[in-house]
Amino acid sequence: MFKHILVPVDGSETAMLAVAKAAALAKTFGSAVTALHVIDPYPFTGVGADFAYGQAQYINAATAEAHAALDAAQKAMADAGVQAATVVGEGHTVHDGILRAVESTGADLVVMGSHGRRGLEKLVLGSVTQRVLGAVHISVLVVRS
Ligand code: ATP
Ligand code: MN
Repeated sequence: MFKHILVPVDGSETAMLAVAKAAALAKTFGSAVTALHVIDPYPFTGVGADFAYGQAQYINAATAEAHAALDAAQKAMADAGVQAATVVGEGHTVHDGILRAVESTGADLVVMGSHGRRGLEKLVLGSVTQRVLGAVHISVLVVRS
């Protein structure tokens, strides 16, 4: 039924639960899987050399985080017998990066966590999930922690 499943991951436990569900679905339906991490845009503003240094540091740290989250997702998939592609995405916002990846991969299902790294601070849904649900035109499975 689902040809291509996109799994946005942020390194959180809840996102890893989404990875497990996505792996099970992919095995059932023979779907391709892409794990995606979107690097948050540089959150600070400033001018001059301090700004440039801070930005380089930020991008290094964010890239390392992206690879850690994607490696963990890919390994969990492999352990479940599913070969997943990985993508580091960019966007003006995280949800924008997810929407772009939906377009570029041609995914027909998104499997993502209800919450992420900030956990249950927001009782109903994390902001990224809320925005994806409001904007995307394909099916979304929201996995609860
Ligand atoms: P908030 O960020 O709104 O304070 P939160 O971190 O608990 O709260 P979200 O960020 O909405 O919640 O996370 C929900 C899900 O969105 C995660 O489980 C993951 O699937 C996805 N997600 C969050 N951040 C990213 C990211 N940078 N790249 C890819 N997917 C992400
Ligand atoms: Mn978050």
